[in-house]
Amino acid sequence: MRAAVFHGNGVLRVEEHPDPVVERPDDVIVEVEACGVCGSDLQILNVPPGHPSTPPVVLGHEFVGRVAAVGDAAGVRVGARVVVDPDPKCGACHFCRTGRPAACTNILALGVHRDGALARYTKAPAASVYPLSEGVEATAAALIEPLACVVNGTNRAAARPGESAIVFGAGAIGCLFIAVLKAAGAAPLIAVEPSEARRPVATAVGAEIVLSPDEFAVRREELFPLGADIVVDAVGTRLAAAIDCAAMGARIVLFGMNANALPPIRQYAITERSLSIFGSYISNFTFPSAIRLVEQGSLPLAPIVTHVLGLEAVHEGLVLLRSGEATKVVITP
Ligand SMILES: [Zn+2]
Ligand SMILES: [Zn+2]
Repeated sequence: MRAAVFHGNGVLRVEEHPDPVVERPDDVIVEVEACGVCGSDLQILNVPPGHPSTPPVVLGHEFVGRVAAVGDAAGVRVGARVVVDPDPKCGACHFCRTGRPAACTNILALGVHRDGALARYTKAPAASVYPLSEGVEATAAALIEPLACVVNGTNRAAARPGESAIVFGAGAIGCLFIAVLKAAGAAPLIAVEPSEARRPVATAVGAEIVLSPDEFAVRREELFPLGADIVVDAVGTRLAAAIDCAAMGARIVLFGMNANALPPIRQYAITERSLSIFGSYISNFTFPSAIRLVEQGSLPLAPIVTHVLGLEAVHEGLVLLRSGEATKVVITP
């Protein structure tokens, strides 16, 4: 089959790759319908990488597909439509056994540390496979994995109706936060995004005002005289800015991933304003919620997928994402 294989040192090649085969009783082979390209894929491809991985590896972890083959104990039927949690939890380590699966010490992530879904076929353990109804558009289904992570982040902030919120970064993750915070009743809800191309998408998913960072610096006092109750950093480098605009007792959710970011922090403001700062990593029992939100059509997700490309055009997709022209690129292998 054709697959987008990361070879280390920023090199991604679309090339021939062996089809995955059933080896264990719980193996599920999935024929991929659609797979999103994630900000963390860009971080993996950066030199030096902003996110660790184990090359050579097929990238791609945000996907929907159809079961093509199963082991004896997989418990799903061939032909079923499925989405997959790409971070299989072991269920047996200290953190799994104490209710913190995102901290599982034995995760071998699909598309990061083992082969993922930027390929015609991929393989997942049955415990990570979730059924999905036939009526969902493949492009919307490809957003379920990042949405599960965003629902986790939103839960951490414990958003209450009528609280004000600022989202830094209106890429796909920022837009998913905007959509979920809007559904949770955030008001006002403001996004800050440098890319002009991305700002209309943020508006379409529920942001009342979308500003460039320069415009935000000018209008912040007027829009948030008391600061914002919830601040989301969907970039991975905006903690200092998030602290600057946080209200007394605000919650800050750090979601973006950039291992090279070392922002200077005014620690005094965290203490003096009693801020809560939450790191939010992957999903946390939130796949069922994300699937339900997408199956029910509860969120206006369609504008987020700005580009749908074939596998051979994956590099074009990376350029569109890096330039900020695309919000979410979905590949149909
Ligand atoms: Zn992702
Ligand atoms: Zn574990």
